[in-house]
Parts: sequence; C-alpha cells; structure tokens
Amino acid sequence: MWQTTIKNSVEITGVGLHTGRESRIIISPAPANTGIVFNFADKNSLKVKIDDMIISTNRGTILAHNGYFIYTVEHILSALNGLELDNVEITLEGEEIPSCDGSAKVFVDKLKDAGVETLEEDRRIIQLPEPIWIFNGDKGIFALPSDKLSIYYIIEFPWIGKQWIFYEHDPARYEQEIAPARTFGFEEEIETLVTEGLAKGGSFFNSIIVGKNGYSSPLRYPDEFVRHKLLDLMGDIYLLGKRINATIFVVKGGHNLHVELVKRIKEVIDDR
Ligand SMILES: [Zn+2]
Repeated sequence: MWQTTIKNSVEITGVGLHTGRESRIIISPAPANTGIVFNFADKNSLKVKIDDMIISTNRGTILAHNGYFIYTVEHILSALNGLELDNVEITLEGEEIPSCDGSAKVFVDKLKDAGVETLEEDRRIIQLPEPIWIFNGDKGIFALPSDKLSIYYIIEFPWIGKQWIFYEHDPARYEQEIAPARTFGFEEEIETLVTEGLAKGGSFFNSIIVGKNGYSSPLRYPDEFVRHKLLDLMGDIYLLGKRINATIFVVKGGHNLHVELVKRIKEVIDDR
C-alpha cells in the first residue's frame, strides 16, 4: 500500500472548545515520510513533527513544544487516521484546533473535498510486537497484536448507562458511523469546568450536555456517546505519528488512558 496526502490545502476556522478563542488551521499536502507536522504560524512558522511533541491531557489532548501549546488535537487527528491520510502539514493560527460541531465531521468533509493524493512510497504501519495492558481501578485498556485495526469500546455513565461498540477499521465506516459523533459533557460538571478555566467555548452547538432531564439536542445515533469515545481513541492513537494494526479493548476509557497506551506502545516499539 502506498502512502497518501491530500491534493489541495483546506482551511477551517472556528472557536476552540476550551480556550473559547477563534483559531484557524490550514491543512496542506506534505511529501512521503513526513507524517503529521504542525506549523506554528504565530511562532515564525516553526514546524514540529507530531512525534517530537510532548503529550498531556486535561479534558482533551494537548501537545506542547518549547512552551507552545496546541489544545484539542484529538478530533482532527481522528479524521486523518480514519481517512488513512499519512502525510499532512497543519498550520495553526491560535492555540486550539477549532471545535466545529464537536465531532470530526467537518474535518472529514474538508479533507474529502481536498482529495487524496497517492505517494509512491510504501506505507509503514506500526505492528504491535506484544500485548500491552493498563488497568486503573475499574477502567482499563489493552491492545493485542493483529494484522488490522479493530476496537472494542465500553462506557458507563450516569444518565447514559452502558454503551458498547465493536469497530473494524474501514474509512467508509469511519466516515459514516464514527466521525459525526459529538463531544459530550455533564450538566453537573459545567461549574467545575468553568472554574478550571476549561470549556470556555463550550456551547450547545459543539457538545451534547447530559443531565437528569435528558440531552441538550437530539442524538445523531442512539449510542453517540460511545462512538465519540472511539472517535477520540482513533485520534489519540494517531499521536504515534503512524497508523497502527492492533486489537484494542477499552473499558471506561478517556484521554488519560488513551495517552498512557500511546506512551507504552512507543516504549515497546522503540525497544526493537
Ligand atoms: Zn472528543
């Protein structure tokens, strides 16, 4: 299989979910073996490969390099992983990826408009050399070697209950069944989030608010919540900088657990 990039640059503007500030990204074609590169437009167009960034989480996934930050990278990365785009440059004006409608749909639509370009270079997909597992109380994640990517995801939340999904990676299925699933938050958390200085750009337009009286907007799928968690995982595992083949099981996961997994995978693949 050859590597891919996009044919044309595309631009997306909008408000960041956490910073509440307007930002703009331009996604541009990149040559084979580039991977995902961020270009800090506000910092003399400094370019940094995703593998060279420091990863942290706080209600979202944050990348950092020399004191420069990019908040909420998970949905754009999910779209790139879901559509199997190997090489792109993402120029960022501002500090956060626009939240759009809280899902990956806008990114997918824009990337599809941009068109796919095939690059005559073999695609390198990470093969997991051994099983990896992380448990944290009643939450857990484990990954097994496989020749394709498949994910089992289970969640349990108040007002939502248990939801589960089994996903075998396929770009068409990703586009139709995963990408449109939106971010969600809980009514009783809103005060805490505001105190912590988060979710400043949160609104009924870019997230589903869950409370005792139901949901703030009609759901796009009855199990939209677990689909969104899977969408987040598809983004977080692309922090590896390359696609991966593995069977991944997640019970009550979130960005912390996803990023722990990414760090552990980096350790075992660096060993070889
Ligand atoms: Zn998300």
